[in-house]
Amino acid sequence: MPGGVNSPVRAFGAVGGTPRFIASARGPYLTDADGNEYVDLICSWGPMILGHAHPAVVEAVQRAAALGTSYGAPTQGEVELAEEIVARAPVEQVRLVNSGTEATMSAIRLARGFTGRSKIVKFSGCYHGHADGLLASAGSGVATFGLPDSPGVTGAATADTIVLGYNDLSAVEEAFAANGDEIACVITEACPANMGIVPPRDDFNLRLKALCTQYGALLIMDEVLTGFRVSRSGWYGIDGVAGDLVTFGKVMGGGLPAAAFGGRADIMAKLAPAGPVYQAGTLSGNPLATAAGLATLRGATDEVYARVDHAAETVAGLATAALAKEGVPHRLQTAGNLFSIFFADGEVRDFAAAQRQDTKRYAAFFHTALEHGVHLPPSSYEAWFLSAAHDDAALERIAEALPHAARAAAE
Ligand code: PLP
Repeated sequence: MPGGVNSPVRAFGAVGGTPRFIASARGPYLTDADGNEYVDLICSWGPMILGHAHPAVVEAVQRAAALGTSYGAPTQGEVELAEEIVARAPVEQVRLVNSGTEATMSAIRLARGFTGRSKIVKFSGCYHGHADGLLASAGSGVATFGLPDSPGVTGAATADTIVLGYNDLSAVEEAFAANGDEIACVITEACPANMGIVPPRDDFNLRLKALCTQYGALLIMDEVLTGFRVSRSGWYGIDGVAGDLVTFGKVMGGGLPAAAFGGRADIMAKLAPAGPVYQAGTLSGNPLATAAGLATLRGATDEVYARVDHAAETVAGLATAALAKEGVPHRLQTAGNLFSIFFADGEVRDFAAAQRQDTKRYAAFFHTALEHGVHLPPSSYEAWFLSAAHDDAALERIAEALPHAARAAAE
């Protein structure tokens, strides 16, 4: 496999060294192929909000598997998952797909089909998956590896993508003033988490929505990462701004490949077979994935969110206390139960500021935490993920490891 992995950030490229190959996981712990156990602060990059191998999820998947793994025909499980999403999030209809990439790619096609316009606006540092038109100034692995854009993405594929600085409302106003009748949509992470955590300032999302409405464009809120994680619905539960279209993934698949996009019924009605905008998938709404997603969402109760919030607050507190004690310049930024630590001074409001951090210090911090049994995200551009399974014992192990990590970062 190129680079030894099937998704770039897993390769430890940003921190050096060899990734741990994982053999199993339970609750808050990962066990690697050599039998070492780690407290997991990646949680599969978001999905595992209940913890690994949660009994209700395992049982739901086993039950579904025994009934056949895929039919290529509609099922009750798809309807129930769609109903659960519609009950939680500000969407009237949803289409299930297999990955967040597919969700954003399809939402953009639908926005273009609905408006009859070509241009899209995205923000640098926001990551929306690896579809061509969205791989311009993207966060996550693209940021981790310092790629300006990817070879293989043609100029034509991104010619209709307008990239603006995050949190820069005047740039959005200017873009609309110059191209108002050509912009199909603005796509934004509801709260960016792929350049580290960079929350929207004040009324940023609300103003985006107002500008889109004024110019007849659609707002696509990408909640693939934040959806059903930072609250029962997602970032919407925190700032209350609904997109015309919303994308989901991660938690709603419970660790299996499932994602979705949804929105206003009049927009979704343009999607095939109800309308002319084509979108399809052999494995979309797969019975195992819908079973895992439903079990996860049904298990994600208010009590679960309270536990994740508590665990996140505790770990963020431990990390900043350890770094402060060693005099390491850092900045904690939070978004509900998501947080990240920039090894930099001052507030980070956009991608340019995020890129000014000291990634070498993070590498030392990461490896020392790993040696002490805590698996952090192997990139300082990623959020730290907690689950409801991160109990006192797991938090205690983190409390023991982080002072060593902070000392290494200070050197
Ligand atoms: N959108 C956001 C906000 C994401 O964080 C991600 C993945 O991290 C994606 C889209 C792409 O999702 P996937 O990796 O499932 O294709």
